[in-house]
Amino acid sequence: MSCTANGVADALRAAAVVMAEHRVELIELDRAIGDGDHGENMNRGFTAIVSSLDTMVPETPSAVLKLAATMLISKVGGAAGPLYGTAFLRASTAIESELDTAAVVAGLRAALEGVQARGKAVEGDKTMVDALIPAVAAAEQAAAEGADIAGVLTAASDAAGKGAESTVDLVARKGRASYLGERSAGHLDPGARSTALLLGALAEAAR
Ligand code: ADP
Ligand code: MG
Ligand code: MG
Repeated sequence: MSCTANGVADALRAAAVVMAEHRVELIELDRAIGDGDHGENMNRGFTAIVSSLDTMVPETPSAVLKLAATMLISKVGGAAGPLYGTAFLRASTAIESELDTAAVVAGLRAALEGVQARGKAVEGDKTMVDALIPAVAAAEQAAAEGADIAGVLTAASDAAGKGAESTVDLVARKGRASYLGERSAGHLDPGARSTALLLGALAEAAR
C-alpha cells in the first residue's frame, strides 16, 4: 500500500489542527526554557502549509513535502523553522516516486539526518533530535517486522513521545535553552514535544 499526494496533504492538514490545539502548550514549554514563541512558530508554519495546499495540492507526495518545507523555511523564524524545513526538504528528496512503507521510513531517516546536519545536535542535547532518533529507530524496526505505513508511523510516534519525555531530565546543550545551563533541567523541550505531536498527527491520519 502507498500514500497519494492528497493523502500527504490531508496528513499535513491534520498536523496543522494538532499544532493549533497545542499552540498554548508549546508556548508555555518554550517560555520556561526559551523565548516563548515555539507554539506561535509552529502554528504559523502549519497554517501557511494549509493555505497553500488549499490553493493547489502538488502532484506527488514528494512535491507536497517540498511545498511544506518551503512554507516552514519562509514563514517560521528562529531555530525550528529552518530545522523543520530541512527535515521536510530531506524527506521530500528521499521519496522517489511512490510513498510506500519503505519510503516513509527513508523519509523519516532523511529528516533526522537533515536536522542533525543543520543543527549539529546529538542525542542527549535536549532538542527535537531526542524525539527523532528513537522515532526513526522504531520506524525501521516496525517496517522490518512487516508493519504498514500506519504501523510504522504509530511506532515512530510512540517512540517520539517517550524520547520527548526523556528531555525533561536533560541539560540543554543546543539552542536557546542551552543559555540556561543546569537551570534547563526539569523542563520538557518544546521542539521534542512538537516533533512527537507532529508524528502523532501523521500516524493518526494514516490509520
Ligand atoms: P527559537 O529557539 O529560535 O525561538 P523555537 O522556539 O521555535 O526557536 O524552537 C526551539 C526548539 O528548537 C527547541 O526546543 C529545540 O528542540 C529545537 N532546537 C534548537 N536548536 C536546535 C539544534 N541545534 N538542533 C536541533 N534542534 C534544535
Ligand atoms: Mg522559541
Ligand atoms: Mg524565537
